[in-house]
Amino acid sequence: MTKVSIIGSGFSSLSAACYLAKDGYEVSVFEKNNSIGGRARQIKKEGFTFDIGPSWYWMPDIFEKFFNDFGKSTKDYYELDKLSPAYKIFFSDDEITIGDTMDKICDEFERIESGSSKPLRKFISQAQENYDIAINKIVLKPGLSPLELVTKDTITRIDQFFKTISSQVRKNFKNPKLISTLEFPVLFLGAKPSKTPSFYSFMNFADFGLGTWHPKGGMYEVIKAMGDLAESLGVTIHTNSAVNEINVLEGKTTGIVVNGKTIKSDYVLSGADYCHSETLLKPQFRQYSEAYWEKKTFAPSSLLFYVGFDKKLNNVEHHNLFFDTDFEAHAEDIYDNPKWPEEPLFYVNFPSITDTRMAPKNCETGFFLIPIAPNLEDTEQLRQQYFDIIIERFERKTAQKVVDNIIFKESFCVKDFKKEYNSYKGNAYGMANTLMQTAFLRPNLKSKKVKNLYFTGQLTVPGPGVPPSLISGKLAADLIKKHQSN
Ligand SMILES: Cc1cc2nc3c(=O)[nH]c(=O)nc-3n(C[C@H](O)[C@H](O)[C@H](O)COP(=O)(O)OP(=O)(O)OC[C@H]3O[C@@H](n4cnc5c(N)ncnc54)[C@H](O)[C@@H]3O)c2cc1C
Repeated sequence: MTKVSIIGSGFSSLSAACYLAKDGYEVSVFEKNNSIGGRARQIKKEGFTFDIGPSWYWMPDIFEKFFNDFGKSTKDYYELDKLSPAYKIFFSDDEITIGDTMDKICDEFERIESGSSKPLRKFISQAQENYDIAINKIVLKPGLSPLELVTKDTITRIDQFFKTISSQVRKNFKNPKLISTLEFPVLFLGAKPSKTPSFYSFMNFADFGLGTWHPKGGMYEVIKAMGDLAESLGVTIHTNSAVNEINVLEGKTTGIVVNGKTIKSDYVLSGADYCHSETLLKPQFRQYSEAYWEKKTFAPSSLLFYVGFDKKLNNVEHHNLFFDTDFEAHAEDIYDNPKWPEEPLFYVNFPSITDTRMAPKNCETGFFLIPIAPNLEDTEQLRQQYFDIIIERFERKTAQKVVDNIIFKESFCVKDFKKEYNSYKGNAYGMANTLMQTAFLRPNLKSKKVKNLYFTGQLTVPGPGVPPSLISGKLAADLIKKHQSN
């Protein structure tokens, strides 16, 4: 049997493990932490359950397709709820609630700007066409050649790769609140909307067209499902198993060193952060220099708080965005002139509002996220200072006192991203999807210097986010299978 060693147990690694095991490979997964899931792990404390990373379950079709590839369905593993409303956005002078149907969303747009529902429907219809092309044709390509992007559909939309989502939104909408609402989905891709090609409007279809879902029990249910599926296919998963080295002999990998012990394998696939994975190789076998990574646009890092409240909260939904300060000023502090933001935008989720399993009775589980530039100074004092800023704003905007109801609070920031995941500069969600960091312009799935060495995950193809990570694992597994069959 052909042996494959996989580094890491995030979505991409688990996805690759399942596809390879199904095709008869002997697959072992090595994870440095004590539980699987990578950035999507979960903590349970004092009856509260926190997903410590992803919380937006978008593109349900991609999750379904993943399980269907193994003769299963998401329903075999977890129960999905379509959130209604999907989320709420707090602005300085108003609130926008995004419903679970296009009709409800159009009504809300009309309330803000009369006549805006017509361009919205047109915009979302074009976004849907882009979604179909992106999901069915582009993201399933391994990013090995620019020719992969040349199709009848992309050629007729070539202008959408050179215009930005920001200019397209502004062409159709004038109200700043609607502009921010429509620019929000591409923030998942890790760059400013003014640097993201308008073709990525397919994220708007994912948002308004496909809706926001919640797996009962939290996002970690998906990781558990993938872990169970992998094991049922014969994958062996080792936790507390840090990979210290990728071995190379005569230009070909021969395996890895785990906690000092050599594990021989025919192929090595790393789902750990790409830059870290290459440091496991001797310098002559690395494809990308420090200068290469330094020049790239990384997705933000985050300051996160996991907070348990001893009461139910008012005026909030499952997902809440606080866009009550200047979006542009905060984006500049992340991308143009990296520093701690003066007036941060932030995001909060309370999964216990729709899912009683997530908190003790009459309590609320809260997850607060401030996006920040990677590699900022990270001290306890700064973390507390920013918690005080956002909790005060939260209380003001939602008209309630909550600070005295906190019975549990933990934080996670740049230092933790580095320590827990070997993340480059403490990035939270990988390398951004800008025009110059799309498809074949991203770090390669296949090593150009070491035979039988492959990479997967949010720093490679197709990019950041849970659905892309599922696809990335499949692409890497397909390349290994193709290589072996040649
Ligand atoms: C705070 C936050 C919020 C997010 N929100 C969303 C969201 O709402 N929706 C969404 O779709 N996406 C979201 N994302 C992005 C999404 O979580 C990621 O894109 C995805 O989980 C990345 O998976 P991965 O497999 O590429 O990497 P990871 O999950 O980082 O997995 C890599 C694994 O490799 C392990 N590893 C590293 N070095 C070694 C080593 N030497 N030996 C062994 N193991 C090693 C790490 O411990 C880790 O488990 C969010 C991310 C964060 C951090």
